[in-house]
Amino acid sequence: MALTYELIKECKQSGARLGKIHTSRGIIETPIFMPVGTQATVKTMAPEELKEIKSQIILSNTYHLYLRPGHHLIEKAGGLHKFMNWDKPILTDSGGFQVFSLGDLRKISEEGVEFRSHLDGSKHFISPEKAVEIQNALGSDIMMVFDECAPYPADTSYVKSSLERTTRWAKRCKEAHKNTETQNLFGIIQGGMYADLRKQSAEELIELDFPGYALGGLSVGEPKPLMYEVLETTTPLMPKNKPRYLMGVGSPDALIEGVIRGIDMFDCVLPTRIARNGTAMTSHGKVVIKNAKYTENFEGLDLECSCYTCKNYSKAYLRHLFKANEVLGLRLLSYHNLYFLLKLMEEIREAIKKDRLLDYRKNFFEKYGYEV
Ligand SMILES: [Zn+2]
Repeated sequence: MALTYELIKECKQSGARLGKIHTSRGIIETPIFMPVGTQATVKTMAPEELKEIKSQIILSNTYHLYLRPGHHLIEKAGGLHKFMNWDKPILTDSGGFQVFSLGDLRKISEEGVEFRSHLDGSKHFISPEKAVEIQNALGSDIMMVFDECAPYPADTSYVKSSLERTTRWAKRCKEAHKNTETQNLFGIIQGGMYADLRKQSAEELIELDFPGYALGGLSVGEPKPLMYEVLETTTPLMPKNKPRYLMGVGSPDALIEGVIRGIDMFDCVLPTRIARNGTAMTSHGKVVIKNAKYTENFEGLDLECSCYTCKNYSKAYLRHLFKANEVLGLRLLSYHNLYFLLKLMEEIREAIKKDRLLDYRKNFFEKYGYEV
């Protein structure tokens, strides 16, 4: 069954939408945050733990899995779900972003991108067709088109030609996509920070009729208010009956602001990455656990959080684990940060139901503090 989006209700206080994405591997309640499992694993988290904290869908990276262990091996293993023991939906990116940001000595042409692996320097070529072939082999539920993500800042003529290439590549991805019954290919709207170019990209891609649309090229170093402005002008142009996905965004403030502007799906490595550096997101803002002030703090990490970490471990103990470089510290903080964001999304969905998302936002920021 191809994926469908069911719009349950729109918030009367904002542009937020409550919805359900129906997939062949179950229903995803939106708005949702998707934990990122770059190398076919959400770092330090077992699939059972991801289910415990109610992850509905996770993301994995085409570029990394293509280079190691290789998509053919994963296909032989029975696909990515079986390989990593995850039976709920998986979204894979196209590899485009990593090819542009990690690949060395890349050469971009109309045909695709030639680059050297960041692992061993070997030479590779990824075209739109190749990106689809890899994702077809992985068997992800949601696949992304191979796009060119313009950097920030970039001038209009560069962004325009890059988005037009992204449209041509999206067309080629759609033609190359084989498993349309079980896998869903999303388009990616580019256009940098320019409202007219976002509009052009949205119109060209909507014409191609994808089952869902992402916004790419945001959260790439621009100030957050500028990202919110782009969302405000772009989401109204996106189809109401399809999911809208803002790529690479995962700070609590940006999740709330994104939902208010009509976004349904988010992903980011932020919660797990900062967890491994010893930073927790809590209801009263960020906690840097190695701080000396927590040496004798025997209270839970976040007194308002009821996750496994917060119920059982004190700040003093977590600090000790990080000071002693113990691997359990990374696990416990990753667990909490993901729980915190998934719980935040659950509360956001509740607030939309009750038409009080702006009130929720106000209460949240009064405690968490506002990050710009
Ligand atoms: Zn917690």
